[in-house]
Amino acid sequence: MRAEIIAVGTELLLGQIVNTNAQYLSKGLAELGIDVYYQTVVGDNKDRLIEVIRLARSRADLLVFTGGLGPTMDDLTRDALAEYLGRDVELHEPTMNKIESLFAGRGMTFVESNRRQALLVEGATPLRNDTGLAVGNALSVDGTHYLLLPGPPREMKPMFDNDGTAWLKQLTGETLSLHSVMLKFAGIGESLLEETLIDLIREQNDPTIATYAKEGEVTVRVSTKARDSAEAQRKLEAALTEIRRRTESYLYAEEDVSIESKVVQLLTEQRRTVSLAESCTGGMVSQLITMIPGSADVFQGGVVSYSNLMKHRQLGVPNELLDGPDAPGAVSEETAAAMAEGVLKAADSDFALSVTGVAGPAASEGKPVGLVFVGLAQKGQPTRVDKLQLSGDREGIRLRAAKRSLYTLWQ
Ligand code: ATP
Ligand code: MG
Repeated sequence: MRAEIIAVGTELLLGQIVNTNAQYLSKGLAELGIDVYYQTVVGDNKDRLIEVIRLARSRADLLVFTGGLGPTMDDLTRDALAEYLGRDVELHEPTMNKIESLFAGRGMTFVESNRRQALLVEGATPLRNDTGLAVGNALSVDGTHYLLLPGPPREMKPMFDNDGTAWLKQLTGETLSLHSVMLKFAGIGESLLEETLIDLIREQNDPTIATYAKEGEVTVRVSTKARDSAEAQRKLEAALTEIRRRTESYLYAEEDVSIESKVVQLLTEQRRTVSLAESCTGGMVSQLITMIPGSADVFQGGVVSYSNLMKHRQLGVPNELLDGPDAPGAVSEETAAAMAEGVLKAADSDFALSVTGVAGPAASEGKPVGLVFVGLAQKGQPTRVDKLQLSGDREGIRLRAAKRSLYTLWQ
């Protein structure tokens, strides 16, 4: 079954509100195994709404509307569909009673327009509204299915999840639903990861494989439609095995968790502690770690050593590394190592991470934007420094550097 989501509301077109309903519905329909082919947005105008219905009918079997079921004259969804189908509207008595008793109970005068919220397109199945007044509509005509939901998310969501979903399930006779495994990667960019998996992404359509990048992390979603999770697992296993084989060292989780929560979990299990010396990330790594509940047990603290003076005074980075014509400079392997060793000593932690780099927009010390060194010092072991060339704007580079440093620790 191919679906089109039609969000109705002039305020959507004016950019006054965000179309979060479409996102919610897309996700919900996918979980029901229904393919969403289009999302449309149209204003509160009956002619244009009818035009949209006509177009949607030509390319989808299920039209899911949200918005325009309210009492006012600009709430036109129901009327537009009735007109398009050449049907009347009819009163849904239980909703009418509910509205009337609500008004009576609150001592309010009944406004005639409220009756509109109790109307159904002739022949439609009513959908319960537990959090509002407008009744939902579900009907099938000539092989096309129509689902009419209210606009306010707090009404739309429960209606879709309860009566809406029940109606859809009975429609499709569908017992298949979408099952996905989220693979989380760190220490590798989206494009390189995609290149590593490109043949799988291109050739596989069941399961499907897709990469996403957001907030400095890369996710691969592997999904398939199946009757239950056991069947899904069987169908996903071969693809997962192949992806694991190709990406081994960058794959840090097979669920949707952040690298920082993984790091905190790991350190907690190992009963180890970490401290930080941050330059270009300006405290971001400390922020990421301390967002995780329980981080107090594993995080000793950090130094934001932005200037050379602070690197020297707080962390004991030798001036010879920082200043002078032949000095490697603040952004260097040597300084990253000295920063990590300095904070390891000061915090007396098991591990210490350091981050120093050029976040941009301008180059610094004659070094290119995106050059970042991540140091890892640990008690009784040689210090290791990773040299990275990160891409993106200032914020992107800082975030990637922060996430990437956590990956160094996780390894
Ligand atoms: P009402 O009874 O409140 O008039 P309605 O079903 O007629 O409900 P609309 O009038 O279209 O719905 O929208 C009412 C409110 O619901 C909007 O002002 C907005 O806050 C929210 N809303 C509507 N459509 C969406 C959408 N697609 N995504 C998120 N919020 C929405
Ligand atoms: Mg309205």
